[in-house]
Amino acid sequence: MSKRVKTLLLLALIGSFWGCKTTDPPPAPIIQAPIAEQPKNIILMIGDGMGLTQVSAGLFHNNNRFSLEKFPVVGLHKSHSANYLVTDSAAGATAFACGRKTLNGAIGMTPDSLVCETILEEMENKGYATGIVVTSTIVHATPAAFFAHQPLRVFYENIASDLVEHDVDLFIGGGLEYFSNRSVDERNLVDELEGKGYKVGAYNRQSLKKFTPVQGQNFAYFTAQTQPPEVLEGRHYLPSASLMAAEYLSAEEEQGFFLVIEGSQIDWAGHANDDHALVKELMDFDQTINNLLNFARKRGDTLVLVTADHETGGLAIDEGSKIGRLKLTFNLNDHTATMIPVFAYGPKAELFSGIYENTDLYHKMREAMGWEAKESHTYRPSR
Ligand code: MG
Ligand code: ZN
Repeated sequence: MSKRVKTLLLLALIGSFWGCKTTDPPPAPIIQAPIAEQPKNIILMIGDGMGLTQVSAGLFHNNNRFSLEKFPVVGLHKSHSANYLVTDSAAGATAFACGRKTLNGAIGMTPDSLVCETILEEMENKGYATGIVVTSTIVHATPAAFFAHQPLRVFYENIASDLVEHDVDLFIGGGLEYFSNRSVDERNLVDELEGKGYKVGAYNRQSLKKFTPVQGQNFAYFTAQTQPPEVLEGRHYLPSASLMAAEYLSAEEEQGFFLVIEGSQIDWAGHANDDHALVKELMDFDQTINNLLNFARKRGDTLVLVTADHETGGLAIDEGSKIGRLKLTFNLNDHTATMIPVFAYGPKAELFSGIYENTDLYHKMREAMGWEAKESHTYRPSR
């Protein structure tokens, strides 16, 4: 048998193997709207600690299928911070939010401790609706970097008061503790939010399913006293709450919206070297991505970006792994400096291909919106 015929036979065999594995009925087709010239809305989805191996693990665990395969544009970002090759989530998210590399641990501040305006704040000032949905506390490093300005990520109560200073239309996450049971002052930030006109709900009062936002009124919901549970402990709000948030925000402002979504606990499973928890968190995030991608496909005016701040755990997919039965090992219980994939769908998605600094994500989002460029050492607008 010639080498070529052997190869073809082998490919056919692999094809039939995968073919018989795929038993799911084909999903109902989505009527895709034509893609607009420029985005009206941006949805930024961050899988904390979700490096390329985590994406691969999610895909192979899920019978070789992952929502990210539907994104036409893929790029890579370099995740390092201002002072370490291996970033933490605070500096990582500040890079996306402000377009500045900063010190590990810093939230919305430059390395010389100056406040930097975040893209969420700029959106807010320009009249866009804004929202945040996470599976950590709402004051945790990743979401915090979009609205708070603190030298250290652990100043949770200060981060909570920074949030109350803003006019974020919708936020959903844990951390009620830092709003209603404070030690730095006597304030009750839940009362203050209600005083500002927010509809505020909490896990111990009503379920998020039954507590829905009212159009024209800001919305806050606390999913836990401190950190929300893991998927393995029964948490499942991220996919539905994220879609609800996009639908609410799109009706809230004629102009458009900016929504940040974080699969926060992918990172924690990596720190814990817990492969079972990791895969569950990845599946939860995958379903969330799918919901929002479908939302965007029906509209054509929404840029959807999926990325991570860094990789966590030095994950490897070991020899002996099979599709649906992976052998995963971790090399360490902290972050690594490997480049991080960026997946883009929608108007101006093409800006996100190539290899660039994590800070360029910020500049690219602004360029996608058609805003005048800000000074950057790493980024030159394509126009
Ligand atoms: Mg995070
Ligand atoms: Zn981490």
